[in-house]
Amino acid sequence: MKPFMLASREYKPEDTIIEISSSAKKVFLGEGYCTIIAGPCAVEGAEQYLSLARILADLGVHILRAGIFKPRTSPYSFKGLGSEGMDIVDQARMITGLPVITEIMDVRDLELLHDRVDILQVGSRNMQNFTLLEEMGRIKRPIMLKRGLSATIEEWLLAAEYILNGGNEQVILCERGIRTFEPYTRNTVDIGAVALLKQLSHLPIIVDPSHATGRWRMVAPVARAAIAAGADGIMVEVHQNPDKALSDGKQSLTPENFASLRDQILKLAELDNKKI
Ligand code: PEP
Ligand code: MN
Repeated sequence: MKPFMLASREYKPEDTIIEISSSAKKVFLGEGYCTIIAGPCAVEGAEQYLSLARILADLGVHILRAGIFKPRTSPYSFKGLGSEGMDIVDQARMITGLPVITEIMDVRDLELLHDRVDILQVGSRNMQNFTLLEEMGRIKRPIMLKRGLSATIEEWLLAAEYILNGGNEQVILCERGIRTFEPYTRNTVDIGAVALLKQLSHLPIIVDPSHATGRWRMVAPVARAAIAAGADGIMVEVHQNPDKALSDGKQSLTPENFASLRDQILKLAELDNKKI
C-alpha cells in the first residue's frame, strides 16, 4: 500500500465523482466531466462581482470562484473583503444559482463560510496546515486542495490523506504550478503530475492555469494542455478590467478572452467524451 492509502487507486479503483448539490444548479466534478470554475482573484465590491458573475453564468461556467480572504505575500497588499465579501458572494450564488468556491485560510473562518460556500479551497500556502486539514476532514463540504508551492506529489497526496482520514471523502486536487528556478513564469506548471495523478489516485484533479503561469497570454494554452493531459476541469481567473484588478491582474483574462477559451475547452471535452 502507498503511504497515501485512502487517496490511492489500490484502495479505491473507481474514480471519485463529487456531486455538488448544495446550490440551485447541480454540478459534478471528476472523471468523465469537464468542469469550469471561473471568477476574479478576489471579490473587490458588489458591482464588480455581481456583474462578472452574471457574465460568467451566461457563458456556462459551472462554479464561481472568488477570494474573500486573500493570502498575500506582503501585509500591505489587498487582503480581501472578509465577511462583507461573503455577503456579496451570497448574492451572486442566489442570482446565478451556481455553486461557489472560496478559500479558507483559518479554522476560525469556518463558522462564516461553512453554510454559505459550496466548496472550500485550501490554498497552496496552507497545503500543510495540518490543523486546518484536520478540520476539513471533520466537515461534510467538498474541499479543493491546491498543491503547495514546493510540495512533491507525495506530500500533496498525504495532505489529501489528512482530510480523507478525518472522514471527508470529497477531496478535489488542484495543480497550480510549483516553484522552480524559472523566474519568467510565476510558477512551473506540472502537467505530468496531472497524468500521473490519474494513475495514482481516484480523486478529481483540476488545473489552475492562472496561478500556474502568472501571465494571461499563457492561460489558454496551458488550460488546453491540462485537459489534454486528463484534467477533470480548470479554474481560471477573470476580471472585467485586469489592469485595475486589486490582485493578480496580470494573469486574469477579460470576459471576452475567457469566452474564447471556453469554446476551445468545450471542443476538447467533446473529443474526450467528457460531459460539460
Ligand atoms: C487562489 O486560487 O486564490 C490562490 C491564492 O491560489 P494559490 O493558493 O494557488 O496561490
Ligand atoms: Mn489569484
